[in-house]
Amino acid sequence: MTEPRSALVLFSGGQDSTTCLAWALNRYERVETVGFSYGQRHAVELQCREPIRRALRRLSPDWDGRLGPDRVVDLAVLGEVSLSALTADLPLGTRPDGLPATFVPGRNLVFLAFAGIVAFQRGIGRLVAGVCETDFSGYPDCRDETVRAMSKALGLGMATDMPVETPLMFVDKAATWRLAREIGGQALVDLVVAETHTCYLADRTHRHPWGYGCGECDACRLRRAGWERFVLSR
Ligand code: ZN
Repeated sequence: MTEPRSALVLFSGGQDSTTCLAWALNRYERVETVGFSYGQRHAVELQCREPIRRALRRLSPDWDGRLGPDRVVDLAVLGEVSLSALTADLPLGTRPDGLPATFVPGRNLVFLAFAGIVAFQRGIGRLVAGVCETDFSGYPDCRDETVRAMSKALGLGMATDMPVETPLMFVDKAATWRLAREIGGQALVDLVVAETHTCYLADRTHRHPWGYGCGECDACRLRRAGWERFVLSR
């Protein structure tokens, strides 16, 4: 039996999944997190996860009471079979087929499948994922249609409803910053800036108004551009 007022958040330690975690903490009585280690070059992202969870607990007594255990699933095999610039020393940029070099084929399908398994085992009734089909990331497994199909497959395969909530699916990065402010005010925006990691090159030495990163890779550019539009719209 799954409990409808609970959620399992796919939590990477990046801006999007941190915003989704706060979003879930505002809505559900019990929230747990799952992360995936798959040989990503920016494994520093994973190291940000526990400090972020601690910081979220400090922001709100309600969130402190709701946030349950975390689990990191070892998917090293994904990095072995799925060659990409995220898991191997390959140049960033665009592949001949037009997809980003950082595309890890099937990554979100595998993540959602394992998250579904963890949720089922924990008696949790829904998944929350920070995937987004806007901002031209170009990942076909982040599209709404893909996620809905996966949700249906999980439900059929485990004979239970397994809805996948995607609060960021149709918003851009500026709106993601705005959503963080709506959920947790400036304190949450500050937390996202200081604690989350997005940079593909795992740079946590250069601090910018929008957070740490190299400032040049696609992930940094998206984050910076979103921040600049967010600041302009304030
Ligand atoms: Zn970067």
